[in-house]
Amino acid sequence: MQQIAANLAAVRARIDDACLAAERPPDAVRLLPVSKTRPAADVLAAHAAGCTRFGENRVQEAAGKASELAGVPGLEWVMIGHLQSNKARLVAGFASEFQALDSLPLAAELDRRLHAAGRQLDVLVQVNSSGEDSKFGLRPDAVPAFARALVAFDALRVRGLMTIALPSPDPALVSACFERVVTVQQQLRDAGTPGQSWDELSMGMSGDFEAAIAHGATVVRIGTAIFGARG
Ligand SMILES: *Cc1c(COP(=O)(O)O)cnc(C)c1O
Repeated sequence: MQQIAANLAAVRARIDDACLAAERPPDAVRLLPVSKTRPAADVLAAHAAGCTRFGENRVQEAAGKASELAGVPGLEWVMIGHLQSNKARLVAGFASEFQALDSLPLAAELDRRLHAAGRQLDVLVQVNSSGEDSKFGLRPDAVPAFARALVAFDALRVRGLMTIALPSPDPALVSACFERVVTVQQQLRDAGTPGQSWDELSMGMSGDFEAAIAHGATVVRIGTAIFGARG
């Protein structure tokens, strides 16, 4: 538990340093601790150290933690992983944000379930910036048309883009991924679709968040650097 608080402090200091180096204000980047595979006790330890929003990638696991920790005030759950349409109802019920939107059938199903629940959901569109077939997300050139089609779903509050960069030891390849997303963001801003905001860039994980901050990330999703290696 002490370890989680110490890791959090170290990660926060590294985020501040990266902001300073990029000449960005320290509050320009928010830390999203990724608690997937970790028990509720770890979430509580991070909560005690000031975290209220947690990233999860599996719906059942997240819903379980959300109900286990229902008594903790102010906790919010951010779904960061690929979602199948048959899980949309669960997500519409408890999540405060969904960062991996990448298909219109899923958008339609989420919208339908959100209307039924009387809720809205912040969403980020996932971009496949690495070109790897194994990665979810839209190809960068497919995002503008996708964004236009999202206008039909008024329970989805479009906030920005999310990506997972190429896991590579070559910083130039990693940076190129982040740059592709920034280019798409600029195209979306130029297109100026009413009701959509593209300010949020969720990019950067334990291994590459400093580079992501240098390229304009507003949210970094950090698991192992806070909670330790996953089993
Ligand atoms: C697991 C995960 C993370 C966190 O990865 P770490 O390398 O542990 O920081 C970030 N984003 C997504 C989408 C993930 O699934």
